[in-house]
Amino acid sequence: MATLNQFMMKEKLCLDCGSIIQGRSDKKFCSDHCRSHYFFNNNSCNHPNIKQVNKILRSNFKILCHLHVKGQCKVKKNKLLEMGFNFNHFTHIKVVPNNHLCFFSYLAGYVMLDEDSCLILNVG
Ligand SMILES: [Zn+2]
Repeated sequence: MATLNQFMMKEKLCLDCGSIIQGRSDKKFCSDHCRSHYFFNNNSCNHPNIKQVNKILRSNFKILCHLHVKGQCKVKKNKLLEMGFNFNHFTHIKVVPNNHLCFFSYLAGYVMLDEDSCLILNVG
């Protein structure tokens, strides 16, 4: 029975669509379309800056969820900073009642009540 490696050596598959590549053995894609599709979908998300921002957003999300689970919906900005919250990054903004702006990290958001306190909202 052929191992996966033997199979792969005989027939190279397109990294994008998975179809068998005809011709040169060093090709990784079956077409230019697949090559650009692959790099657009994969490599753009592997850019160091994007990884870094995603890491910050995930961390922000975790902090907001953690506090919300504990029932501490109103928190001091300093406490969030101490926990490593980064106020420079968010995924989107929503206007909530009283015309506050709610800054989201994915499903979790916060509203600034004043200069020092935040209210955590909408933790999914
Ligand atoms: Zn392909």
